[in-house]
Amino acid sequence: MTDQPLLDNYQRLLEISRDLASTLDLRVLLHHIVHAAADLCNAEAASILLYDQNRQDLRFEVATNMDDPLMRGISVPVDSSLAGWIVTNRQPVLISDVEKDLRHYNQVGDSVNIKIKTLLGVPLIHKDKVIGVLEAINKQSGGFSPQDQDLLSALGAQAAIAIENSRLFQQTDLISDLVHELRTPLASLTTAVHLVNRPEISEEQRKRFIDILQQEISRLSDLTTSFLDLARLESGRTQFHAEIFSIKPLLEDCLEIMRARAEEKNLTLAGMIDDDLPELNGDKDKIKQVVLNLLSNAIKYNYPQGSVDLSAKENDGEMVLSVRDTGPGISQENLKHLFEKFYRVPGTEKLAVGTGLGLSICKQIVEAHGGNIEIQSQVEKGTTFIVHLPLISLVH
Ligand code: ADP
Repeated sequence: MTDQPLLDNYQRLLEISRDLASTLDLRVLLHHIVHAAADLCNAEAASILLYDQNRQDLRFEVATNMDDPLMRGISVPVDSSLAGWIVTNRQPVLISDVEKDLRHYNQVGDSVNIKIKTLLGVPLIHKDKVIGVLEAINKQSGGFSPQDQDLLSALGAQAAIAIENSRLFQQTDLISDLVHELRTPLASLTTAVHLVNRPEISEEQRKRFIDILQQEISRLSDLTTSFLDLARLESGRTQFHAEIFSIKPLLEDCLEIMRARAEEKNLTLAGMIDDDLPELNGDKDKIKQVVLNLLSNAIKYNYPQGSVDLSAKENDGEMVLSVRDTGPGISQENLKHLFEKFYRVPGTEKLAVGTGLGLSICKQIVEAHGGNIEIQSQVEKGTTFIVHLPLISLVH
């Protein structure tokens, strides 16, 4: 037996969870959550109350359909309200006639001009701590069902993570950035695993969920490696091993490594490496890492049939390496953010999987050598990353 509406709802939930992970603005996030809640449960309205531990009370933060400014900040006593009951008992509540329920706190309904008949509420729990309550009010037809309760609980679990993430992100240190970035794929993984195991889904749907699983797993693994790399570089704990070496074979190596990936996308990959380049003094492996990263980006963020050119020349006592592509280019506005950790140019997520850490790592490595990275880009024409390296570097 297939249960298409239920499946549609879970698919919707997967989309919502990805959507929630994409915003860090708490207010925007809360709006997303209540609209998703009303939508999923077919309710007249939905709201979120957050629990304030210091004051030991609950406050309305956001609601659909109800007068937002009027409601925001309304405090609800924990000991004599339904929301308070949910917080204290850490359990969902499904009520078919609110008026008859003694736990109801009348004053809220009065002050927001909405007659509350049926109500479904779930606790928002994060790491064993109740952070608030998500409520759906007045099912459009009939009463809320146990299935609505399951859906709202699942949404509540994701919402709690997203809310805590967004709070954490306010403190912008590397660890909270990472926590946020790890939770994004983890939330999608959890939902995708749930969906993939459902017996009634079609083969096509199953493949789609497995694709999402694979993408997110590989992103997680890249993220961990890159994050450690960056954390070491930023804290000055990276060991550099300087040596004198010739750059030409290194660059040819990089081209060889990348050739298959370029061919997969029907890209032309070419090198224009001067023959009489001077030797370089620096960390060979780290320089190679930079070149590979730039080539990899030029391939990833390129259009099929496009081209990638790697060139190397000496100019004014420095080595100049450049990687040019014929991809979508980067606008002036977005260029400003390019070296920010975890930053990805909006729209490029569709072209390739990424972590937004590679360029920060490249910048750290190049700067440790006393060099710098310059970017020239034209929207819809392509981008060139130019690495300037002193012949005798600062690393030792
Ligand atoms: P990742 O590719 O893993 O996301 P990077 O730090 O290497 O991380 O790049 C950050 C972002 O910069 C990418 O997500 C992409 O949006 C943008 N970007 C990098 N290289 C290019 C390029 N050659 N063309 C267009 N956009 C690029």
